[in-house]
Amino acid sequence: RPLTSNDLIEEHRICVCVRARPLNKKELTMKDLDVITIPSKDVVMVHEPKQKVDLTRYLENQTFRFDYAFDENSTNEMVYRFTAQPLVETIFERGMATCFAYGQTGSGKTHTMGGDFSGKNQDCSKGIYALSARDVFLMIKKPNYKKLDLQIFATFFEIYSGKVFDLLNNKTKLRVLEDGKQQVQVVGLQEREVKCTEDVLKLIEVGNSCRTSGQTSANAHSSRSHAVFQIILRRRGKMHGKFSLIDLAGNERGADTSSADRQTRLEGAEINKSLLALKECIRALGRNKPHTPFRASKLTQVLRDSFIGENSRTCMVGQKQSCAYIIVPPVDECTVLLINTVF
Ligand code: ADP
Ligand code: MG
Repeated sequence: RPLTSNDLIEEHRICVCVRARPLNKKELTMKDLDVITIPSKDVVMVHEPKQKVDLTRYLENQTFRFDYAFDENSTNEMVYRFTAQPLVETIFERGMATCFAYGQTGSGKTHTMGGDFSGKNQDCSKGIYALSARDVFLMIKKPNYKKLDLQIFATFFEIYSGKVFDLLNNKTKLRVLEDGKQQVQVVGLQEREVKCTEDVLKLIEVGNSCRTSGQTSANAHSSRSHAVFQIILRRRGKMHGKFSLIDLAGNERGADTSSADRQTRLEGAEINKSLLALKECIRALGRNKPHTPFRASKLTQVLRDSFIGENSRTCMVGQKQSCAYIIVPPVDECTVLLINTVF
């Protein structure tokens, strides 16, 4: 019987979803094989081209069950509803929520998280960053939360080659400090107060243009960096809850560790290290290991407080041609295996 994510939810409180992006023009003209089909709303079939000893070619089909599988006709709004939206409440209930987009460059991570940047009219209002912010502003008006008198702040930064840069402050390089109690602080990170969704959209635009400025499309810097957008709730100055939304570096960069170019090799190694550290942290959470290797990378180090604590939830939006995962810790070996297998 194939491993299903339902097995995981019941036993381990885990929810996993997949999203498929449409094939683009080039893929359609090349008649590329779509390696993923979604035959029903919770099944993903992966087709792997294989060759027998006698050199006859065939496809090996593997089926995986998820909580939701979004096909290429799905909208960001639909994906959001089943991935990040349930986590908005978490931060109002004093929790820490994290939502990752994981996948190769070109698989649709930025489209899902940041919004639609394909046309001339760049629209960030339909990305998971903005949709989450929209719901935070709806939620804060509810009587239960209104009386808490919460303030909402946003940060936007990038982690590139193990260094942190502020996307709301001209890519200023920031230091990460850890105090004796293992509290991690990004020193000088701009935390802007936001009063409405429009305020947030402006910040996303500022951050996005800062992120992509001076890029060449061939080897875009953004594909080699992790972008972290956070919505922070504060009550009388103290952190009440935090939602970290992360557009991860392309996971194909590992292949570049053999590249002739030293810089590309170093970047590849760094990305491998951080994605591996992320997996290790998720893996360790599932087993409640006392020593989780947060310090293994800047990414996991700055996300440390979002992984620990009983009210922490992590949602992983991973994408191959297109895919989205939600994972609520504790996460076990099966999930990691599932992620590694499909993506
Ligand atoms: P990544 O950030 O993973 O490198 P992008 O989000 O930039 O990938 O997506 C690559 C291309 O595919 C972009 O041109 C984007 O507009 C397009 N794209 C991605 N997802 C979708 C989708 N669900 N529907 C339509 N176009 C998409
Ligand atoms: Mg991208």
